[in-house]
Amino acid sequence: MIITIDGPAGSGKSTVARLLAERLHIRFLDTGAMYRAIALAVVNAATDENDHSAVAQVACGVTISFDHDRLLLNRLDITSEIRSPEVTAISSIVASNPAVRERLVELQRDIGKCGSMVTEGRDQGTVVFPDAEHKFFVTANLEARARRRQRELSYEGIDQPLPVVMDQLRRRDERDETREHAPMRPAENAVVVDTSDFTIAQVVEMLMSRIQSRSS
Ligand code: C5P
Repeated sequence: MIITIDGPAGSGKSTVARLLAERLHIRFLDTGAMYRAIALAVVNAATDENDHSAVAQVACGVTISFDHDRLLLNRLDITSEIRSPEVTAISSIVASNPAVRERLVELQRDIGKCGSMVTEGRDQGTVVFPDAEHKFFVTANLEARARRRQRELSYEGIDQPLPVVMDQLRRRDERDETREHAPMRPAENAVVVDTSDFTIAQVVEMLMSRIQSRSS
């Protein structure tokens, strides 16, 4: 069984997807982390993130793998490094590169062959797993998303004013929604869930009951 959860940054989809996977005792796949890994490789190689062929070359020369909840780039643990503001900003630029997407989509489909999972990202229900059994698009208004993102950043010791976080999210959303390849949008048969006024626990319950009602 494949469950896809797509949606914009700060919508709560990662936490929801992780908790849902735990409840169902199946794998959780964070595909955003994979784009972040390529962004980090681009930073490390001092490559211009807007140079499509140089970025494609970097993407083809690295190995990305998971060790339980740790993300490895060329077998080195980069789980924390990929959350920096620099990598975050570059991730949506490298994600518009078709060669990067092709590479990561193939990897994601391979992982999907290994059994049931909850996978989250921007294109999981539309492009990567169009035949998934359950598809959700989790969203929230910009201010709610920016407040969540601001909280996450402050846990990591990074303090940023709300208008700055809102502006960064707006820019990232716009890039993700308007890119030519696999733009972020709900799949036609996805259930759209607005989490602005709900807690994470309530959203997980909503998704669980939807899955259970459709499976029985
Ligand atoms: O979800 P997260 O914020 O970690 O994703 C980082 C970036 O990776 C997003 O802004 C988006 O540009 C890209 N992404 C994507 N397709 C996915 C997952 C993430 O384009 N399936």
